[in-house]
Amino acid sequence: MILRWTSIAFLSGVVLFALAWFLFPFPKDELSRYPAAMILVDREGTPLRMRLGPHDVDCRLQYHPNVTTDWIGKAVIAAEDKRFWSHPGLDLLAMGRAVFQNLTGRRVVSGASTLSTQTIRLMHPRRRTLVAKCVESFRALQLERILGKQAILEQYLNRAPFGANLVGIEAASRRYLGKEPGDLSLAEAALLAGMPQSPTRFRPDRFPERSRKRQGYVLDRMLALGMITAEQRTQAASQPIVLRRDAYPFQAPHFCDLLLDEWSGPEPQSRDAVMRTTLDPGMQRLAEETLRRHAATLGQEQVFGGALVILEVKTGAVRALVGSPDYRDKSHAGQVNGAVAPRSAGSTLKPFAYALAMDQGRITPGTMLADVPRLFRDYTPVNFDGQFNGLVTARTALMLSLNIPALTLVEQEGADDFLRLLRQLGFTTLKKPASHYGLGLALGNGSVRLLDLANAYACLARGGEWRPYQLTDVGTSSGRCPHRHIFSSEASWLIAEMLSGDERAATTTGHRADVRLPRVAWKTGTSSGFRDAWVVAFNPDYVMAVWFGNPDGNPSPALVGARAAVPVMWDLVRGLYPANDAPWFARPAGIQSRLVCSVSGTPVGPHCSTTSEDWAIEGVSSAKPCLVHQLKADTGQVTGGVVVEERWPTEVAAFLRDRSGTGIRTRQDETQFRLVSPLDGTVCRKIDDVAVDQRLSLKVETRGNECLYWFVDNRLVAQGLGSTPVSWPLERGHHVVVCCSSSGQSSRAGIMVE
Ligand SMILES: [Zn+2]
Repeated sequence: MILRWTSIAFLSGVVLFALAWFLFPFPKDELSRYPAAMILVDREGTPLRMRLGPHDVDCRLQYHPNVTTDWIGKAVIAAEDKRFWSHPGLDLLAMGRAVFQNLTGRRVVSGASTLSTQTIRLMHPRRRTLVAKCVESFRALQLERILGKQAILEQYLNRAPFGANLVGIEAASRRYLGKEPGDLSLAEAALLAGMPQSPTRFRPDRFPERSRKRQGYVLDRMLALGMITAEQRTQAASQPIVLRRDAYPFQAPHFCDLLLDEWSGPEPQSRDAVMRTTLDPGMQRLAEETLRRHAATLGQEQVFGGALVILEVKTGAVRALVGSPDYRDKSHAGQVNGAVAPRSAGSTLKPFAYALAMDQGRITPGTMLADVPRLFRDYTPVNFDGQFNGLVTARTALMLSLNIPALTLVEQEGADDFLRLLRQLGFTTLKKPASHYGLGLALGNGSVRLLDLANAYACLARGGEWRPYQLTDVGTSSGRCPHRHIFSSEASWLIAEMLSGDERAATTTGHRADVRLPRVAWKTGTSSGFRDAWVVAFNPDYVMAVWFGNPDGNPSPALVGARAAVPVMWDLVRGLYPANDAPWFARPAGIQSRLVCSVSGTPVGPHCSTTSEDWAIEGVSSAKPCLVHQLKADTGQVTGGVVVEERWPTEVAAFLRDRSGTGIRTRQDETQFRLVSPLDGTVCRKIDDVAVDQRLSLKVETRGNECLYWFVDNRLVAQGLGSTPVSWPLERGHHVVVCCSSSGQSSRAGIMVE
């Protein structure tokens, strides 16, 4: 009878167990769920930054135990579960002994838990009740079926707590001893293997003696199990433990900040906890050093911010990004990332207006554009240098960054269309409606980010194909990232041609020596009021973008694109191509050479007398012959010969007529620009005990009526128009007074106030 009931009970137990086994399968997803930290590494695998897991847990998953050679696996088994390799997940022998000890009321020596049940508990902490123990045992048996011994040991080692915020042996090994778990000595392995039972109490950095005692216990167990010899035990026990903390990596800080900010992909789990970025360590070093060196010089002229981006054309991968000269410089907002701060674009957007005009067939590099005074709907612009050039080719207009031709092109395109184009190019910061910017968008009245600017130029360098910039390897390797054609390869090539070459290089003052450098196309920009200096350069390999300015928007006379940023660009080119062997763009098939009238720059008509060669886009560039040279209407009969006259639009004709007159200054005019008050070497006296405001009048002799910027000791103190007088409240000491015109002319004087 008893036997029968026992067998029924046993059988129903087995059936229930089997039922539960199938009804409650092991939650396999949880095996890959860790509070994992994410390590950002550069493209060569060197750590840049570590982002801790939830609740700032430091858990790293690189370690795969080698059970035959690594001490840590053996030490953990000796300390926690000596029959690990043979039991089915539960140590029945130990359980039996525990039950016996409980029943006989003797001291409980062993909790009978195995590495398998402990792994379950680490994955899913439960209150220590009998029911919880049954559930854990059940799950441990399932775990053994799914994983096998080696993988369970790995799960345990990656989940065990090691004091402080450390979870898993990889983090513990690196943070306490500065080495990988596989490199731990017997003594070190025994020290760490003793910790998970009571991670805080056995911390070797806080309680060295207690932790040493625990190490002895683990070594004893290893000796008892025959894992080590007595000699090895003695040796390990006498070996001094040297704690050596591995510092958390902190490289390319702005790049990592940006990546962690923008990262929206799946959280890396298990083995993917290492995120490979696009950063190239060599280029990043070059970028950091170059920026720091030039920033040191500019700092003397009150310019404290600067940023630099190097982007690979083919993939859109960001190879270097520096957001400030010194991340740790709190006094100048060093942590603010200048590469993604919206700043006034200056002339840097003009090439896109030219490329669009070329794709619409309206201009070619040789087309004559009028740089003459004219009224636009909202304002009367002047050029950066306050002069007008009359008729110039599109090539020259872009090279000299003339304002009127750029405005005219955008006017023809329509401000709405130009804004739409810029948004397609990825300028996310141009959020306001077209009416807000107006035509001024061509002159840079919108704010852009350096990184977006670099990426937009990459579109030109890629033959007109736009794709998003990449910070991680994920997008670049899959090749699935979105891309779209914005410009034709012909228009892109023409822009690169116009912005490069020897003639172009010679326009940078002081860098004639660099004309022999590899060929690059480049465009500068200076925002109004000397607040931002830009340069973006590109060749088929890379786009290099440089910005200088102050995080708080303070102006400086040094902030002229060509003066501040271009030397940095040349240094980068030199650094990227030490052997002078950079590639250049191949001419697209659709580019044709044609003869144009050298006066109008349009295809030769029947009455044109001089011609020159020009590039055109086959089937796209306008083929309309020259309309400027026409027969004079009524002279034919009188003289019997043919008289040709030039017919220009009213404004151009007026300009050409007035050129010899007095009204308009041209580049040919010699302009005088010098300080008349104060004169260099002036000594003035500030009188105490006088209530009146004592001011020094500032005056410059100039024939123009452009905007003037007055700086005292590199601080902007006043702005004025032409001869309008301005003044400066006296301060005692030596001072340098500088007046800059918006055309870049300047005059200075050293003064002394007693
Ligand atoms: Zn002509």
